[in-house]
Amino acid sequence: MNISALIRPNVRRLRPYEAYTRGLVAPISRGIVAPCGVAVPPRGIVAPCRVKLDANESPYSLPVPAEVLRKIPTNRYPDPEATALKKALSKQFGAPASCILIGNGSDELIYYLITVFGGPVLYPTPTFSMYGIIAKALGQETIEIPLDGRFDLDIKKMLPLVKGKKGSVTLTFLSSPNNPTGNCFSAEGILKIIESSRGIVVLDEAYQPFSSQRGFLPLLKDYKNLLILRTLSKIGLAGLRVGFLIGDEALIREVNKVRLPFNVNSFSQAIAVATLKEKVRLRSYIKAIVTERERLYKELKKNKGVAPYPSEANFILFKVKHSDKVYIGLLKKGVLVRNMKGLIDPYLRVTVGTKRENDIFLKALKEVSI
Ligand code: PMP
Repeated sequence: MNISALIRPNVRRLRPYEAYTRGLVAPISRGIVAPCGVAVPPRGIVAPCRVKLDANESPYSLPVPAEVLRKIPTNRYPDPEATALKKALSKQFGAPASCILIGNGSDELIYYLITVFGGPVLYPTPTFSMYGIIAKALGQETIEIPLDGRFDLDIKKMLPLVKGKKGSVTLTFLSSPNNPTGNCFSAEGILKIIESSRGIVVLDEAYQPFSSQRGFLPLLKDYKNLLILRTLSKIGLAGLRVGFLIGDEALIREVNKVRLPFNVNSFSQAIAVATLKEKVRLRSYIKAIVTERERLYKELKKNKGVAPYPSEANFILFKVKHSDKVYIGLLKKGVLVRNMKGLIDPYLRVTVGTKRENDIFLKALKEVSI
């Protein structure tokens, strides 16, 4: 039986998203690195990974109060509407609970958005790879417009597309600050896209907590076609898988129709509610990451053959001569970063860790012949 023939061609052609577990082992296979930064594991050496700086996670874990866990009725399904969590988010972000939709990570919400609005799906490149992966998995057309030389939006190319003159873009994804480049797109450019779009614009503000620029939440009231995507993953709660979408109530209601009934489990809901109250702690962690980001940037700049880009997020993109060589060299020293091969070449992306983790990374980078 030819199983492969049964798989829809758009799925057969897909390259899976790269994600390593917290098991702290990273596969190395004699220097072979596939496009999209996937270190090919077959028969490879497995190097213990001392420092995991590949997934833009926070280096700081938030304590889970035991009494919160004790109260969770494990025999019952989770609250399908995540009422308490929506209320907490509503208070924090100043949006009515009816304008918020919670996902099992913002990844899931991207899935729902493309399911509901369909394509063509427009996004700049390089950007977060899940927009393209999900659109293709759902058989939707994708339109990729390269960022300009300063990693900003190519407005001249994007505007005619969103205006619907050339093709009819239904959904535009803008990640600002952008993953993996780390910069915010110009606010003027983003506004132009929102104002000119005949379709929906999703502004993915996953990294907004680390940014010096103002976010777009206050503009939601002015633009009915704007949806803002946020996540708790980058501020110390990646293990919970909680992302949320904020926008016009009528749009949120439509997206909610395709949501799986119990998409956010009871533990995640309860822990998120409890930890969102830890405002001082959350703020101090973000501040520590931003301080470390600036130090890391300065230190990276001192390396010959390394060109880091200024970042408004919790990671730094840097250019090297040979990304495979540096990536593998770092892996062998137990430091896992992200090889951006296939998306932007020859670049690596390092997540900002604790001072100790960053120092281990910097030392290893110096030792790897660049
Ligand atoms: N958007 C962007 C821009 C991201 O970089 C990521 C995670 N890498 C996500 C969304 C997904 O986050 P979550 O953990 O909430 O699914």
